[in-house]
Amino acid sequence: MAGRKTAKTGNQGQKILKSDAEWRKQLSPSQFRVLREKGTELPFSGQYDSHFGQGVYSCAACGNPLFSSEAKYDSHCGWPAFWAALDEKKVELHEDKSLGMARTEVVCAKCGGHLGHVFGDGPKPTGKRFCINSESLKFTRKRA
Ligand code: FE
Repeated sequence: MAGRKTAKTGNQGQKILKSDAEWRKQLSPSQFRVLREKGTELPFSGQYDSHFGQGVYSCAACGNPLFSSEAKYDSHCGWPAFWAALDEKKVELHEDKSLGMARTEVVCAKCGGHLGHVFGDGPKPTGKRFCINSESLKFTRKRA
């Protein structure tokens, strides 16, 4: 495919590397702001905050399956929350010291897109709260 560059990344296979111009063509302005510029959607504004259908939430940029509805819960924080990723290798965690806070950023392991942050105040069994922007996700309903 013209313009698409890839790099080997161990277990994740081919990593997707695109220029900002390429991502801009593919993503909506609000998706671009979150996924490529590490923006945050307004709380309680996203389409998946109060969404509890059965299925899989994939990366809105590259389609990498990231989270299952089985790990989604209502955190009342204003963003979709999950207590685990579908598979540890689907996401990468990066130290984030922006905005004067020490947080752990969650990014898509395949395309590097910003998803949100993970906190230690989640429910059992992991105690984790993956606080993820709806703009970074695309839901696919599980077939019955
Ligand atoms: Fe991705």
